[in-house]
Amino acid sequence: STEALNALQQQLPELDWITSKVHIKRLSRDFYWFSPMLVPQLADKLADLVVKPRNEAELATLVSRCVEFGIPMTVRGGGTGNYGQAVPLEGGVVIDMTACAELQWLGDGLVQVQAGMKIAELEQRVRERRWELRCMPSTYRAASIGGLFAGGFGGIGSINYGPISTPGTVQAIRILTIEATPRVLELRGDELLTYHHTYGTNGILLDLELALAPARDWDEYLFDFTSIEAAYGFCRTLLDAAGIEKRELSLYDSQAASYFRDIPFSQPAGHFLVMALVAPHSRQPLTQLLAQHGGAQLWTQTFADAQASGLTLMEHCWNHATLQALKHDKGFTNLQTNYAADRVLEQLAELKAVVGDEVLTHLEFIRLGNLQPLITGLPLVRYSSDARLDEIMALHESLGIKINNSHTFMLEDGKHGGSLSPAILASKAANDPHSLLNPGKIRSLQG
Ligand code: FAD
Repeated sequence: STEALNALQQQLPELDWITSKVHIKRLSRDFYWFSPMLVPQLADKLADLVVKPRNEAELATLVSRCVEFGIPMTVRGGGTGNYGQAVPLEGGVVIDMTACAELQWLGDGLVQVQAGMKIAELEQRVRERRWELRCMPSTYRAASIGGLFAGGFGGIGSINYGPISTPGTVQAIRILTIEATPRVLELRGDELLTYHHTYGTNGILLDLELALAPARDWDEYLFDFTSIEAAYGFCRTLLDAAGIEKRELSLYDSQAASYFRDIPFSQPAGHFLVMALVAPHSRQPLTQLLAQHGGAQLWTQTFADAQASGLTLMEHCWNHATLQALKHDKGFTNLQTNYAADRVLEQLAELKAVVGDEVLTHLEFIRLGNLQPLITGLPLVRYSSDARLDEIMALHESLGIKINNSHTFMLEDGKHGGSLSPAILASKAANDPHSLLNPGKIRSLQG
């Protein structure tokens, strides 16, 4: 109620409250607008207030008072999530975590950092000591490290180290519970995964201990291939080539690649583009592999070039490929797909035969924690209607291409495959007994 919200603000005048309508509106949104299905469901959802705690003590006091007043809370990092994860469905308070952003310590290949730190800042800080992050979303400039764990999957670096959930990458987390007297939980090992990709519904992530990778000054490349078979063959060989150090590898059809307009290259229609980040010392074997697969180099730049210009392929891969397309053509949306690693070309051909240019190819080549290859995709889809989008998702599934539904804000229906684990549900009940944290995202708890 308005009285409760007024009382909350009056009792905590020392907090950094954001009350301007424009800012509240901006901080109540994320990138859900990538999905035309989500727009009508989420466009009018607004927080009543936004608050930006400066430290753990302020956060704990805030949570305690919100519980007392029965005010819903939704946590926000950079607000770059794609499915309305950070959109407050029931109003209340949005807690902007980006001021809780301290690097607590940096050791030999390990770092402890507060959840609100921007990923780009963390990457820069660890690079000063010749480390880099094992896995970085293409949104690293705006996204927080806590948001990656709570709402994301993987990205640049996952070709070596797997998604962010790979055992050994996040080694410890601390969680604040949503109670009149909030508790701090310390989790290590497998049990911390109970808080991964749960959209901040079962506790507030305070900090994370992360394992790092040795830093490299990655060269960036775009390669041209005349057929998908040649491009795919090159990528599969490079993925498996343990002797060639790389950080990112992705494949696009020329139509999807035609939206990378800020990079000076051109490619004939009907060809296929491969994007790669490769260590300088691997240049020679890379060039040899390229020749063996009949590819040609279209464009390259060094790490220093990228630092100097600010233009980087890291902001053209993963979901940034979709963003680059949307800059020029608002008619697209996308899907998140996993192909059967031994049948990718067959699956793509079967799909193409039905959808033609309605779906554009974008593959990302990564590995799981057990080193199994994972060929994922973020295909662009020309949107016509919700019914047609559902049909295209069903077609993928019928061909054995797994869809992680990115057109729903319900936690069960995304990556969790229909239902939540007993551990997630138990942590939700124990840590948020009044159901105040990011309400409305867990279907099985809807009355
Ligand atoms: P937010 O959007 O702020 O939050 C995400 C979820 O986490 C919300 O549910 C929020 O409540 C919760 N949350 C945030 N902080 C906390 C906390 N401290 N405690 C508890 N819960 C919290 N994702 C990838 O995995 N890989 C990619 O390569 C990638 N590329 C993208 C490209 C584009 C163009 C876009 C728009 C999105 C992309 N994403 C990608 C999705 C998203 O950017 C990332 O997952 C990012 O890491 C989210 O971080 P954030 O701080 O912006 O999170």
